[in-house]
Amino acid sequence: MGTNTLEVAVLAGDGIGPEVTEATLAVLEALGRRHALGLRFTPHRAGAMAYRDTGEDLSDAAFRACESADAILLGAMGWPGIRAQDGTELAPQITLRQRLDLYAGIRPIRAIPGVPGPLADPRAAGIDLIILRESTEGLFFSKDRGTVTQDYAEETLRITRHVTTRLARRAFALAAQRKRRVTLVDKANVFRAFAWMRDLFAEEAQAHPEVAFDAAYVDAMALDLLRRPWEFDLLPTENMFGDILSDLAAGLVGGMGFAPSADVGDEHAVFQPSHGTAPDIAGQGVANPTAMILSAAMMLEWLGEAPLTEAAAELRAAVDRAFREGLRTRDIGGTHGTAEAARRVIAALE
Ligand code: ATP
Repeated sequence: MGTNTLEVAVLAGDGIGPEVTEATLAVLEALGRRHALGLRFTPHRAGAMAYRDTGEDLSDAAFRACESADAILLGAMGWPGIRAQDGTELAPQITLRQRLDLYAGIRPIRAIPGVPGPLADPRAAGIDLIILRESTEGLFFSKDRGTVTQDYAEETLRITRHVTTRLARRAFALAAQRKRRVTLVDKANVFRAFAWMRDLFAEEAQAHPEVAFDAAYVDAMALDLLRRPWEFDLLPTENMFGDILSDLAAGLVGGMGFAPSADVGDEHAVFQPSHGTAPDIAGQGVANPTAMILSAAMMLEWLGEAPLTEAAAELRAAVDRAFREGLRTRDIGGTHGTAEAARRVIAALE
């Protein structure tokens, strides 16, 4: 590799994490042979199994490697029976978001031709939206900070100007390259914090007259995502709302196996499928690797210019072609396992 080698820290994690990671790396290797991508992938241990074996779910060494890498590619982390001493789930992916200031959770929801979804309306083939989940504050700010007594439990939501304005800027910048519509999802009718968040977005909207801006209450959006999802473009929202709506939206395009994501800050970024470790199917080689492969495409795009951006476009087109030409993973009623899915995407590259 040349002097411009880009370093990618790979955290395969737990459950189906290592399975979809192996498939994704195989695809990236094939893609790397076709384009001079100059990427070096270095694996690091982190997650629930790492905690079980070493007492640390994300060691200092692993964190530093992530911090100094050009990008972080992550499988999935956590395991039902393995918990921290206070009983909470081990989630180093959340630690990474907070410590690396990855405030923007970019979660594209795009219908892939040939992948069956639950909506009968033919317009569902045109679903192409992004849930932009704020990923460092909101209700999740309270993680490890809440109060539980004999008589009450309390967790506090936090929204700051610093994070919200950067999130808004990112929402309008992304929308400007797409369908030019930003719809903030909030609960401004009940909470002053969300009314204030709406004001901050409205301020940013003034700097982007080319992008239409409106806002919707989260409960109404839950309904509209089922009724007319093809109308939406960029949906920025609070952390907890984004957590819930992104699973719902993934269901519109085939399920968690089709939902990629990027957690992006101003300097660092983690690319990972939106799904978890799927304990119910882990270890069987049947997980759908598409979400992670599409996350890798997002990584290539984020890392730079041509040939990386061209490789990203080719990778997305190969995923589409593979499904159009008959790839059917188990989660959509087919028989193709993780490795076979990777093989078919690689074949579709050529
Ligand atoms: P988390 O709390 O981390 O989101 P979870 O167990 O609630 O984890 P997932 O791990 O995302 O949620 O799994 C939800 C369901 O979706 C499970 O039935 C799982 O088998 C399925 N699933 C998730 N990812 C995939 C995948 N890549 N391929 C096939 N099925 C998947």
